[in-house]
Amino acid sequence: MRNWTRRGLLPAAALLALALPVSSGLVPSSTAHAAPRVTTPEQFFGFTLGSEGRLARWADMVRYYKLVADRSERVLYQEIGKTATGKPFPVLTVSSPANLAKLDRIKQINRRLADPRGLTEAQARKLAAEGRPVYLLEAAIHSTEVGTAQVIPNILHRLVDEKSTTVTEILDNIVLLIIPAQSPDGTEWVGDYFHQTAGTTYARTYPDLYQKYIGHDDNRDWFMFTQPETKLSVALQNDWKPQVVQNLHQMGSGGARIFIPPYLSPNDPNIDPITVQQTNSLGMEMSRSLTAEGKKGVTWGSTYDYWTPSRQYMTYHGAPRILVEAASARDLAYTYTSSNGGPIGPQQPDTNFIEPYDQSSWSLAQIVDYLDTTVFAGLSNVAKYRAEWLFNFYRTQRNAVNPGAGKPYGYIVPADQRDPFATYELLTVLRTGEVEIEQATAPFTANGKRYDAGSWIIRYAQPYGRFAKTLLEVQHYPDLREYPGGPPQSPYDVTAQTLPMLLGVRVDTVAQPFSASTTQIRTVRPASPPFPAQPGARGAYLVGPESYGTAMFIAALQKAGVRTLRASAEFSSGGRAHAPGTLIVEPTAEARAALREVSRKTGVPVHAVGQAPRVAAERLKDGTRIGLYRGINNIPGGWMKWLFEQYGIGFTEVVADDFTGDLNAKYDTIVLPAGISRNDLVAGLNRDRYPAEWSWAYGVGEAGWAELRRFVEDGGTLLAIGDSVATARQLANLPITPALPSDEHEFYSPGSILSQRFDTSDPVAWGMRPDTPVWFGENDQAYTVSAGDVVSSFPESGEQLQSGWLIGGEHLNGKANVVKHRVGAGLIVTFGSEPTFRTWSRDPSKLLFNAIYHGPSTSVQPSAVPAALLGG
Ligand SMILES: [Zn+2]
Repeated sequence: MRNWTRRGLLPAAALLALALPVSSGLVPSSTAHAAPRVTTPEQFFGFTLGSEGRLARWADMVRYYKLVADRSERVLYQEIGKTATGKPFPVLTVSSPANLAKLDRIKQINRRLADPRGLTEAQARKLAAEGRPVYLLEAAIHSTEVGTAQVIPNILHRLVDEKSTTVTEILDNIVLLIIPAQSPDGTEWVGDYFHQTAGTTYARTYPDLYQKYIGHDDNRDWFMFTQPETKLSVALQNDWKPQVVQNLHQMGSGGARIFIPPYLSPNDPNIDPITVQQTNSLGMEMSRSLTAEGKKGVTWGSTYDYWTPSRQYMTYHGAPRILVEAASARDLAYTYTSSNGGPIGPQQPDTNFIEPYDQSSWSLAQIVDYLDTTVFAGLSNVAKYRAEWLFNFYRTQRNAVNPGAGKPYGYIVPADQRDPFATYELLTVLRTGEVEIEQATAPFTANGKRYDAGSWIIRYAQPYGRFAKTLLEVQHYPDLREYPGGPPQSPYDVTAQTLPMLLGVRVDTVAQPFSASTTQIRTVRPASPPFPAQPGARGAYLVGPESYGTAMFIAALQKAGVRTLRASAEFSSGGRAHAPGTLIVEPTAEARAALREVSRKTGVPVHAVGQAPRVAAERLKDGTRIGLYRGINNIPGGWMKWLFEQYGIGFTEVVADDFTGDLNAKYDTIVLPAGISRNDLVAGLNRDRYPAEWSWAYGVGEAGWAELRRFVEDGGTLLAIGDSVATARQLANLPITPALPSDEHEFYSPGSILSQRFDTSDPVAWGMRPDTPVWFGENDQAYTVSAGDVVSSFPESGEQLQSGWLIGGEHLNGKANVVKHRVGAGLIVTFGSEPTFRTWSRDPSKLLFNAIYHGPSTSVQPSAVPAALLGG
């Protein structure tokens, strides 16, 4: 949606605010200027942004942006789409009127430089001289980092109002795009909650997820592109091809005052060296400005690395990521003071910490001020060296299309895949990142191997080949230590993103050139296997368990009230072998409609047989009642909620109140996401600190804890994920013991992909390959097991690491991961590592969905299958 607001069409409230300044004492003199001055933030909001204990609210900030766009020739206000809750997602475009009049030409130049195939160096120089670098400034992806949103009105006003050479040079030489909040929903919630709690004894910080599903992980979504806000920013970047992206953040209160690149090691080797150096030089420029202005406590080369694409899209698309992290104040907007009265933070100077901070307090005003300095330092530099920035962008992209020796020729995704839905999703991720994908129109041979027509080819030599490579290859994270022989130097986040492993897609790397006749794919579409004819009344539809899209079939069948069985053993029917876990579905019109719809979405084939197979089976419970435990600010549960909704899974969020009644009366299966301790469940949020709107997160007490145990004993199914396994272990005295050393010298897996062996005959592992790798994060655990059914475990010997970084893999040898425990009449399944981690891990998500429906299902003898399908 394009919604340009220039001249007129202003909400009445904004016009009123313009006419009646809240604080008239701060109106600047207009006599010195011919043009009318644009309302200042002080006038509009009634206080100076950054004032002690004051926060401008999101709705007011949006009104201000519309007002400025209406009053200034230098600003365009645009709503480029909707957030996860359906609210507007605004973007501001700031430049000189002359530049704003030729944005299409500026964009066209950027696009030509981004794809320099066929462009000579001389032509590129001419374009660089004519063009204008695009500088994308993103604020408030993390809504409690409030200074990042509060500073934007000040920056905007200075750009539209100031007559200085600095500002003129910026406007003449740059197109500035501002995302004033990358999570507008959260910015609204956090600001409004801060206002609601003013004058109370309640905590002032909004306690829950500040993006509808994934809270802080909205900044871990830059390669899977799951959330609407991510997609909007990526579409914006694809449209404009920015030369710089600056991200405003806040960090903890007690360390350095601000972090600016260069980053801590390591860099992802797939980031072009020019991009890395541009990052370093612009970061240093910002640090220099801060120091020159007497702003102390600046650090670089600490904490934040340049590794994972989950935090950075632009770096594989030619633009540096300038991450700026200012220290936080207290309770969002109040001055933080050191506990001992001395200066805040480390006091030992170093080459990456030239000047320690020498004050004992730190305010929101300072956050706003520091951030403002970095933005103007960045803008000024890029404006001053406009043509150099554009020409270096061209050089970066020239490297991409002429990668030279030592790089792969490309990747082949064979047409014949086990999971067509996974293949579709993998190719969609790459296309969203503007990777060029070709599809073979005839069989061909590469690297001595024959490939069918329909196979996909991704050549490395292309503008965004680096983005494809970082997602398709195995990560080799360096063995970094804090000092020789010391503990591992923690990566800022995780170390692996190998999509073929996470999704379960076969992708071959090819070193040498080959020829194939191909056609370019513009939009990736799901496969379209033929849909079978209606089976007779004694027949059945069959769907294999191999795709993780099988969960969508089950969800749709459950919703349609269709009788569904799953084969417990392999069987042959209709001339083909069907694996354990195959869905056996009643041959009705409702079933047909549901199956056809999901097959169309996933590309997963459906088969039909004239005679229902006679094989041992499980009948899924009709309308299985699924509960997803909701923890306050629980990100893993938020990711799951998003996944459940995407797949159409019918579920209810389990809240504290449920534990006062009979859990079995409401739920068949309860999922406990990672990050829920016994204390989170039992004690929960302190009701003295959080008002009744959060009562769903108040503790369930010891009675609720006992009720959860009784739920399982009376036949309920409980799934415990990741570190929540410890909670389930306490709940039911499970016969499992953590097996990994806690000393990081001995064992360390900071978000890596590891080897695994599955018992694919177990209903929880139906559809898995016997050696599907799994995600294993810092809080995950492996177990020794004295009773229960081990569904998956780590290999007895050999290399445990598949991608990323692992220390002490031998401690995993033979240890259990997924285990099934009978408890009373019920079932607990423990997942030592997260099968749906951030929903990046999709192939293993089958484990979770299998277990959800397996617990409440009933077994059916082979001879009884036809009758069970008929409702007997
Ligand atoms: Zn942040």
